[in-house]
Amino acid sequence: MRTIILSNGDTVEVDCLSCALTSGEVEPEGGVIAETEHFHAHQDVAYPIRGLVIVASKRHIKGLDELTEQEQRDYITFITKIRKAQRKVLGIENVYYFYNEDTTHHFHLWMVPRYDWMYEFGRSVESVRPVLLHARKNKNEWDHTKVLEGIRLLTEVLNE
Ligand SMILES: [Zn+2]
Repeated sequence: MRTIILSNGDTVEVDCLSCALTSGEVEPEGGVIAETEHFHAHQDVAYPIRGLVIVASKRHIKGLDELTEQEQRDYITFITKIRKAQRKVLGIENVYYFYNEDTTHHFHLWMVPRYDWMYEFGRSVESVRPVLLHARKNKNEWDHTKVLEGIRLLTEVLNE
């Protein structure tokens, strides 16, 4: 078991945070954005970036090559749908995608919208971590309602 501090300050004891989120044991702040048979989308509001989406598999797997054919199809269809929603309701022009197989959770993809302020941290992959840390560090000074509104708009359009 690991102790995890949630964005609202609560702590939970879980074996795997992704399992806890996708099973509904832990409710992400802002709620579930959308779900399919095999995947689950939410935002980690610890990183207050409007339109950031995390897509986690429902099965406890780590590698892309562990996805079944059905999951592969579901995955690409789902992330494409989310990407379209980000563009349509939030006007997001570019997204950075990141996932690592040596996670302490399980298979989850970060879909990180690219905003102008992020370019001060560089371009491409080397800027991803500094951008996320900057957002997390300055969380309290940022407009949280904008982030929650982003979640709500995505949730609405993805569940029409
Ligand atoms: Zn898991």
